[in-house]
Amino acid sequence: MTEATIFALASGRPPAAIAVIRLSGPAVRVTMTAMTGRLPPPRRMTAARIVDPATLGVIDQALAVWFAAPASATGEDTAEFHVHGSTAVVAAMLRCLAALPGLRLAEPGEFTRRAFDNAKLDLTQVEGLADLMAAGTETQRLQALTQASGGLRQRAETWRATIVAALANSVALLDFAEEQSDVVVASDVKTAATLRVMRVEVTTHLADSARGERVRDGLTVAVVGAPNVGKSSLFNILAGRDAAIVSSAAGTTRDPIEVALDLNGCAVTLIDTAGLRDDVADPVEREGMVRARARAAAAALVLHVATEPPAEPLGQVVINKIDLSGEPAGIHAGRLYVSAAGGSGIDALRNWLAEWATAALRPGDPALVTRERQRIALAGLVEALDDADREVDPVLHAEALQMAAQSLARLTGRVGIEDILDELYSAFCIGK
Ligand code: GDP
Repeated sequence: MTEATIFALASGRPPAAIAVIRLSGPAVRVTMTAMTGRLPPPRRMTAARIVDPATLGVIDQALAVWFAAPASATGEDTAEFHVHGSTAVVAAMLRCLAALPGLRLAEPGEFTRRAFDNAKLDLTQVEGLADLMAAGTETQRLQALTQASGGLRQRAETWRATIVAALANSVALLDFAEEQSDVVVASDVKTAATLRVMRVEVTTHLADSARGERVRDGLTVAVVGAPNVGKSSLFNILAGRDAAIVSSAAGTTRDPIEVALDLNGCAVTLIDTAGLRDDVADPVEREGMVRARARAAAAALVLHVATEPPAEPLGQVVINKIDLSGEPAGIHAGRLYVSAAGGSGIDALRNWLAEWATAALRPGDPALVTRERQRIALAGLVEALDDADREVDPVLHAEALQMAAQSLARLTGRVGIEDILDELYSAFCIGK
């Protein structure tokens, strides 16, 4: 089966200084030759006059580069044209490419899909790439980059090798069951110890997964308190100053009830519970309210706004309206004193929040497990390892190890375990 060669505008919407058009597939070389007049050496950016092979009319004077399979982003032959980024040049390029035999416009994510199919990326890296595209803060960028560059994949591959070795060993035990070879028994003890070390590693990363998910989703902070204490005012002054990324959850017709802040590179979502109402008619807006309410209920931090120290604090207490009470601004007795109207104490509150977020997210130390899907796969792995550790029957022990391998395959998107079995058999062919 010959795959179609796909192409797409890889850079942003024109007009721009430069537009990048990307190709991947078997027709890359012939397309490159036809459009630039010759096939330049691979991996070398080359200046070229780009012509439409159908009319021989010049489309643009531009740069072109190609990469030979398998040493490319998708694992196939790929190419990039860096043309002038006008609407007309891009349109002419796309029109010309679409008319060439074997070429078609790529579907969303199709380059990445081919990279995955050719094992250039595993599933965790694809997820990391998606996060990198969506990253809004430095912490999110660093975590996503770590994952996209294979942080979790490398770990998973090491774990997989350990399990395959353990499986090989358990098969050997089965074969030599009657003889009870000392060598095999000794290596079995060693394997069990290695598996236990691995289990500790996996559980350590699992324990850190909540942090990874919080970096992705942003820490939620619910602003609560009695009516008229100044919750919305406080929310607005924080949002107004710090809203590097503003996301209004409840539609655009009313004031936002959620705002995403970038506090020293940490994503923090502030939810104004004063804005959560039941009397909303618009279904989209109502859905926004439902979601915001659920998020507020699960908030990582509650800011309890009051004008007097509350008898029962619901979270971190913020005393507002100090312009009326005459209290000094800043932190005392564990409470934050501010004036949302006058602005005093707001910087101290902001710094306090940033420090809290930094402590919660530890920006310099990216978590490896960042999604529920990954967490579930690794929890399955731990369960299987525990089964294997407990199981004395060699057949059931081997089965538990296979389950462990399968959990890892789910993590990396290689669901089939045929390759594991192939590797296993190849390790055992000598003398069998
Ligand atoms: P919410 O019901 O808790 O959201 O409170 P609002 O933010 O709507 O504020 C209620 C009233 O208090 C409004 O009239 C605000 O202008 C006023 N207010 C809010 N913060 C301050 C403050 O720091 N000082 C003073 N003097 N008035 C404030």
